[in-house]
Amino acid sequence: MKTFSKLYIDGVWSTPLGTDLIEVVNPATEAVIATVPAGSADDAAAAVTAARNALPGWAATKPAIRAGYLSQIYEALVTRGPELAEVITSEMGMPIKLSQRIQAGLPMVVLESYIKLLGEFAFSERIGNSLVLKEPVGVVAAITPWNYPLHQLMIKVAAALAAGCTIVAKPSELTPLNAFVLAEIVDSSGLPPGVFNLVSGEGRVAGESLASHPAVDMVSFTGSTAVGKHIMALGAQTVARVALELGGKSAAILLDDADLETAVKATLSSCFLNSGQTCNANTRMLIPEDKYEVVVELVRRHAALYVPENPLNTKARIGPLISAGQRDRVLDYIRSGLEEGADLLLGGIEPPAGLPLGYYVRPTVFGRVTKEMKIAREEIFGPVLSIMTYRDDDEAIAIANATVYGLAGGVWSANSERAERVARKLQTGQVDINGGRFNPLAPFGGYKQSGNGRELGRYGLEEFLQTKSLQF
Ligand code: NAD
Repeated sequence: MKTFSKLYIDGVWSTPLGTDLIEVVNPATEAVIATVPAGSADDAAAAVTAARNALPGWAATKPAIRAGYLSQIYEALVTRGPELAEVITSEMGMPIKLSQRIQAGLPMVVLESYIKLLGEFAFSERIGNSLVLKEPVGVVAAITPWNYPLHQLMIKVAAALAAGCTIVAKPSELTPLNAFVLAEIVDSSGLPPGVFNLVSGEGRVAGESLASHPAVDMVSFTGSTAVGKHIMALGAQTVARVALELGGKSAAILLDDADLETAVKATLSSCFLNSGQTCNANTRMLIPEDKYEVVVELVRRHAALYVPENPLNTKARIGPLISAGQRDRVLDYIRSGLEEGADLLLGGIEPPAGLPLGYYVRPTVFGRVTKEMKIAREEIFGPVLSIMTYRDDDEAIAIANATVYGLAGGVWSANSERAERVARKLQTGQVDINGGRFNPLAPFGGYKQSGNGRELGRYGLEEFLQTKSLQF
């Protein structure tokens, strides 16, 4: 993998002010595959200054001009898509076929949707005797996680640039390489200097510097709830707008008339996708008490198809976890499930056979999980599914809502009106009915401690806009 020694600030590749480096590790081989600079507080400040200086010019460009630049970026993204999929598989471990479709594919879908939106979005509207203007918030610090690294970054970059904001991106220290490829793409697009800047670095150094910088108008953060709370406190010092996309503990509710086999297959796929490292993964499966045996049988049959493999294998469905630390954290959760008396139906703490290197965990399913157990309450962020039973729809809703999180969920039923009635009672920002389908124009974000922001489509664009009212 290519190593990067410079940061992208003010339209040029700049030598970092410090000499510290971040080693990027391939989680399938445990080998260091590249290094990037560990940006310092001074590097972050230089990037903020560049973004600040570029703001007036970029904010004043017409939406059609901004769409033109985004289209240049889109074309290069498509060309470099296969390379990006390989980079992301190497730094985070998602199986290559899935990386091509999701890790490299989704950012293209998102960017394309913003290019289209720029052609139709009204940046002003008349309300009686007032003209309401929607203006860019200003300089945005985008701090992103490692699980869908380019997708999370692109959601912010596309919407912020479309809105007329300038941006400093700080990707996860675990998966920075794809962001450097994006910076190369941006550089080749001719975007004016300072509109997009990239500072790689540790969260506690570069991330904190950005989140607390007085010249940053908005922090757009995706990551864990714990760090999100800290970022909110940092942003409070300058009353920066803080948009948070945080963790989840989503439940799939299988109603008693659901097509159980389809629902079980889809829930396993949601839970095990990306080795369970997906914020909106359905990690709890809620089923009617009298269907327990049938569901367990279906789960045993279909979950057995998820065998950890080297992610470069084109047939692989599930790869390693991101790091040794994450693997150990997930194994601790599996131990806690065993200690608290859940039924281990599949998987467990033993490492998978035939994979001496790499941070692999066997896909694990627990039955008879109760809502008091730690595995039912906390975000595990690994391939661990908890099956819980309920007696009636109201109890299913109560169990689904019995968590501090509120990101997503699913309802399965032969009767879509009944499913909708249940979905309306879930305290989450998104509910998939009978599997749902990804819609890049529909808002995505959390209730409760899953966050306060909305990303994608018009709602995502408005996150980066502030309103001014002219009264006549
Ligand atoms: P994390 O919170 O550890 O890190 C996220 C980012 O914050 C990284 O760039 C990190 O460097 C930075 N950071 C860490 N400490 C910081 C600090 N003190 N100040 C400023 N920045 C800091 O999260 P992660 O482990 O990278 O990602 C996994 C988490 O992200 C999970 O909880 C997952 O649910 C969540 N997530 C949420 C969504 C969503 O849309 N809601 C999407 C993907 C991931």
